[in-house]
Amino acid sequence: MSAVSEQLDWMVRTQLESRDIRDPRVLQACRTIDRARFVPPDLRGLAYDDRPLGIGQGQTISQPYMVAVMTQSLALEGTERVLEIGTGSGYQTAILAALAAQVYTIEVHGSLLEQAREVLDSLGCANVHYRVGNGRLGWPEESPFQGILCAAAAEEVPETWIAQLADPGILITPVGGWEGQWLVKITRQGGRLSKHEFCPCRFVPLVDGGETLS
Ligand code: SAH
Repeated sequence: MSAVSEQLDWMVRTQLESRDIRDPRVLQACRTIDRARFVPPDLRGLAYDDRPLGIGQGQTISQPYMVAVMTQSLALEGTERVLEIGTGSGYQTAILAALAAQVYTIEVHGSLLEQAREVLDSLGCANVHYRVGNGRLGWPEESPFQGILCAAAAEEVPETWIAQLADPGILITPVGGWEGQWLVKITRQGGRLSKHEFCPCRFVPLVDGGETLS
């Protein structure tokens, strides 16, 4: 095994398998996609640590466990169209691109999106579509989505996302403000919506900004 594979294997065993990540496809993607590629050069030594890391613009690459738990909750089989809000470093995007058919990713900071696109292109992720803008609006022209994943917390789940969720479909997002956030999963199945709050979490806030869609 190469040094990188060994470190990824260690990350997966000690941070994901030791908790509740069981989906073999998610575990495999986390073993294959090198998180260090998405981390600024001066922080590469910490790339496999159990924590978020700064990526510039006051934003962070999520903790590996958070990426895995959110991805696992989408129960992807490979045929889905997925909307991601908050591209950030592009690490979560790469994992989704390995597990779904198409990924539509929106980031409010153009510079972060360009950096992420460069890394994803270099890894050969050809099924990712990029947009700079306000992810609150979703991506109506490409909806509906079987999976929607957001990596920034809003006070309430925007109605636009629910409207763009397919049936069946799963939406996963942190919800809450400075006083505390929960990871919330909303499932649409047979015309009915159900909501499940599954763990406390801490994400950057979903901000307003970027281009507006008419
Ligand atoms: N999963 C990403 C997490 C990035 S942090 C990673 O591991 O790298 C969340 C991202 O959401 C930040 O990059 C932030 O700029 C972005 N964001 C915040 N509000 C947004 C909005 N309204 N629309 C799109 N992106 C937004």
